[in-house]
Amino acid sequence: MRTLLWLCTGLVLCAPAPQQRAATEPALDPLERLKLGNQRYQSGQAAHFNQERDRRLDLARAQHPFALVVGCADSRVPPEIVFDQGLGDLFVVRCAGEALDDLALASIEYAVLHLDVRTIVVLGHERCGAVQATLERGELPGHLKYLARAIAPHIEDARRRIPAGAVEIAPDLLDLAVVQNVRAVVAELEACEPILSDLSHTGELRVVGARYDLDSGAVEWLPAQAAEPARAQRNSARR
Ligand SMILES: [Zn+2]
Repeated sequence: MRTLLWLCTGLVLCAPAPQQRAATEPALDPLERLKLGNQRYQSGQAAHFNQERDRRLDLARAQHPFALVVGCADSRVPPEIVFDQGLGDLFVVRCAGEALDDLALASIEYAVLHLDVRTIVVLGHERCGAVQATLERGELPGHLKYLARAIAPHIEDARRRIPAGAVEIAPDLLDLAVVQNVRAVVAELEACEPILSDLSHTGELRVVGARYDLDSGAVEWLPAQAAEPARAQRNSARR
């Protein structure tokens, strides 16, 4: 019993304090920082560092975010919480379904050009309502139609797989569409001329796709994908 107590005490003493982790993490690769943060969040061990008064004062005149997240506006997927990051850590651009328009692209280009962000994560998520609505109906009312028009070309393959006469979209088909949408947004960013495409081609800018699991809290990282010329051309033509 006493041995067990010593072991437990030793483990607690050896675990780095949140302040120590905050001090050492900046040396890590940005993706590693995001992975570690998501692991803390998933396991209920979120550190919440970089949210103190001193951090706010340090950042008051300048920001140096280590990564940019293009995410869905969904209230269940706030990147700062999902990745357990604090003030000034992430530059975040959010729109339902991770949809891009010229204003979103301008925000992304600003972060790349003026804040030297070199890692972009496109974060889709399980049961995304914007993707589901586009998958089910294609055309939506009001301004929602612009959202559907942005997402629909990304998920044509998933739409073709909907069985004739289907009343409901199967969960695995929706999940396929979510991943296809993420992959398409990654490809659009990599092909977005001239700023993002130039840096992507030289390897200076990394754009990574990921899917967030609403149930487990896990961020699953999608493998790198080959460039798709057709999509790149469409992206270029839109400019
Ligand atoms: Zn969503």
